[in-house]
Amino acid sequence: MDDRFELYDLKVEVVEGDRPFVCSHHVGDYFLVEGENLVFPENNSFSMYALAALLPLLPAKQRVTDENDWMHTDAYIACPDPNCGARFHIKRIGKRVFSHHEVTVVPLEKR
Ligand SMILES: [Zn+2]
Repeated sequence: MDDRFELYDLKVEVVEGDRPFVCSHHVGDYFLVEGENLVFPENNSFSMYALAALLPLLPAKQRVTDENDWMHTDAYIACPDPNCGARFHIKRIGKRVFSHHEVTVVPLEKR
């Protein structure tokens, strides 16, 4: 039985907003999302507060969404510090194929 499915790889990048930054963000800092893994480039830091705000959205952005769904169109997330102008752009950068049996021990229901 074909148990493959696809998830998007993501790039989450610091971009300018409408105000100066309060936190230690730098435009262009980023991390990648590949399956369950966050991948940080060397010599790159990322605010744990911003990461905490972004984490709930990442699994949804990894998945195929309806074109009418706001999750499909909205890709800029504000820094959780209300005085900070930083924005974080979540970009789908490619698809990766997984097999159900390789990512869980829970069996598929027969179709
Ligand atoms: Zn900030």
